[in-house]
Formats: sequence, C-alpha cells, structure tokens
Amino acid sequence: MAGLRVEGIEKAFGRGERAVRAVCDLSFEVADREFVFLLGPSGAGKTTTLRTIAGLEQPDAGRVLINGADMTWAAPRERNVAMVYDKNSLYPHLSVFENMAYPLRLQRLAESELRERVMGVAKILQIERMLERRPRELSGGQQQRVAIGRMLVRRADLFLMDEPISHLDAKLRAHMRLEFKKLQREFQSTILYVSHDQLEAMTMGDRIVAMNEGVVQQIGPPRVIFDRPANRFVAGFVGEPSMNIADCTLEDAGGAATLRFGHQRLALDRDWLDAAGLGNAPARALSLGIRPQHLSLAPHAGQGAPNVICGVVYAAETLGSETILDVEADGVIFRAWIRNSALGGAPEIGEPIGLQVDPRAIYLFDRAIGRTLA
Ligand code: ATP
Repeated sequence: MAGLRVEGIEKAFGRGERAVRAVCDLSFEVADREFVFLLGPSGAGKTTTLRTIAGLEQPDAGRVLINGADMTWAAPRERNVAMVYDKNSLYPHLSVFENMAYPLRLQRLAESELRERVMGVAKILQIERMLERRPRELSGGQQQRVAIGRMLVRRADLFLMDEPISHLDAKLRAHMRLEFKKLQREFQSTILYVSHDQLEAMTMGDRIVAMNEGVVQQIGPPRVIFDRPANRFVAGFVGEPSMNIADCTLEDAGGAATLRFGHQRLALDRDWLDAAGLGNAPARALSLGIRPQHLSLAPHAGQGAPNVICGVVYAAETLGSETILDVEADGVIFRAWIRNSALGGAPEIGEPIGLQVDPRAIYLFDRAIGRTLA
C-alpha cells in the first residue's frame, strides 16, 4: 500500500492520575496522492498524531505504516516525510533562497534543478521578490511562507502540515487555500494536514478525519461530513455559522409527531420520521440541530404558527448582503442567516420575531450519546 496507514495509535502524556490521554485507538489511512485533513478543536490530539507519524513522538501502542513499511520505530530521517516547521526554524544567517534551497543542497541536487524548484515554489508562495533577504527582514507571515516553501521544494513520500497558514491574514489564507490544492494536484503529493479551521478542511481536503478529545468522530469526504455528520460534535463543529443545537423531546401521539422544547413545537413529517426508525416511540429525549441557512423569517411571529420558532431578536450582525440574526427562544439562542432583502429594515434588539423551520432540514441526535439519529 502506498500512502500512510495509522493503526490503533495510543498516546498518553504523564503517568497515573495525572496522565493525559492525547490519542485513543486512532486508525485512519491516507491513500497515495490523497489530501487528508485531521480536523478538530484545540486539544483534540492532532499535533500529537502528526508528531507520532513524523517519528518525533513514540506511541504507547499501535503502528505507523508509510508506503506499506512499518515505520513505528524508525528514526524521523528514515521516513522520507516532510513536515512544515514553525517559521522560527528558519536559519537567520541564510537568505530566503538559501533557506529554501537547504534541503536540496543536503540531497546534492544539481544547481540548475535546485534553482528551478526554489523559483517555482517561491512564485506560488508570492515570495519571489524576497529571495535575497534574510528572515528577520520579513514579516511573520512572509517568514511562515518561507518555512512552507522549504518543505515544498522537497519531493517527499508524505507531507505533514500543522496549521501552516493559520497565522496569515484572511486574504492570504484564501489565496493559499487555492494554491495548496493546486500544488497538491500538480506535484501529486500525499498530504496530511492538521487544522482546527473547518473552512480549510472543507475547501481543500479530499477527506476529513474529524477528531475530538483524542478520538476519531468521523472519517469521510467534506460533503458527507457536512451533510451527514455522524454525531452532534461533528454537526456542531463543521459549518459556518455553526449548527443550532437544542435539547428537545420527541412526542409521537395520536398520529402527530411533535418536537417540543419550552413552549415551542415543531411538527415532523411522518414518512421522514418512520424512515429514520423513530416513529411510534414513547417520548424521547433528543437534541435537534438546524443549520442557520435553513431558518427563514416567518411571515407571522405569533405563537402557534406551524413550524415557527417564536422568540425575540437577541443580536443582529449585518454583513454585505446577509444578516446573521440571533434569536432567543425559550432560553436557547438560534442563529439564522437571512438575506437583507428579506428583512425590510434593521431588526431591533428585543423585537418579537418568528423563524420558519423546514422540518426536513432538521437533524436529530440522541441526547445522551450524541449519535445522529436522523
Ligand atoms: P491544538 O490545536 O491546540 O494544537 P491539538 O489537537 O494539536 O491541539 P495536541 O497538541 O495533540 O492537540 O494535544 C492533545 C492533548 O495532549 C492535550 O490535552 C495536550 O495538553 C496534551 N499534550 C500534548 N503534548 C503534551 C506533552 N508534551 N506533555 C503533556 N501533555 C501534552
């Protein structure tokens, strides 16, 4: 098998009661030429996983296979893996060009090919006019791009990237997202990329390994992770603005299935509920999820209108052509993504408002364990 396979990795730091389980029984694969994201919040165990693959950390259990060979105990330099290090790892006395050329000089590459590779990567990273400068003569973002460049000039079996663009400004990040994707296709590289930024993972990744508290939550292509999240954690983590999630009770009596929370009631489609295997069940404790994009302004704000969440405006943030509207209903804040043209005027804080829910766009989660039920 070409690419990377991680099998049952366990890693804890410290001992006894104070031990932190950073990674628990972690398994996934990155196929040859695939671009895979390890996505999760701070402390999920992403960096520990990456360092274990690079050979900078030793696992308590499990195996790391690179191109089919067991590399669990191999030294980092034996793995033909390139990792982006922090910008602080640049050599201060060398020019940008020489910093980037350094790994190639170690490989004794011919001068003409070395120059061609460095120039090609420098162009993509928009640093070709800075090649003669020293790192201290660059901004932090420019230094970071040099660190990325130094990794990209190599032809490694596997590239490991730990949040390489998170310190860049928003515009440069957007540019780099497109460039990374292009670069990966052009060089046909195999990349494992760590990020807490779901937008990066959604736009660049062929597949995403979603992690939380050291445990894999779901593995799949971005679209599947977004449309069919395996549990409440993934549902809430992926998507911007994030999914609204509220505790509710499902009541299925007298032919009508209703979701209740506080004074609010949402009527569910019988076929949809039956298809999810939730029909005819006794009252059940669930969490409901609804994306901000699936809420719209209800024509009538009054209590009792079908599938309308009734509340008051809690906050409103107007962007170019949309407004992110926070509506408080029975102690829960629902965030809605509303076109300005539908609003009429700027909403007043405290103003009563109704949010129309499309019942088919609702997700239902088991409240206790978070698993997606529908
Ligand atoms: P971030 O996005 O904040 O970098 P992460 O997902 O990369 O987070 P890790 O850095 O892998 O997470 O950390 C996972 C857990 O292991 C955390 O609870 C962290 O505090 C702990 N940890 C990581 N490295 C060490 C260490 N050297 N000693 C003790 N605990 C550690």
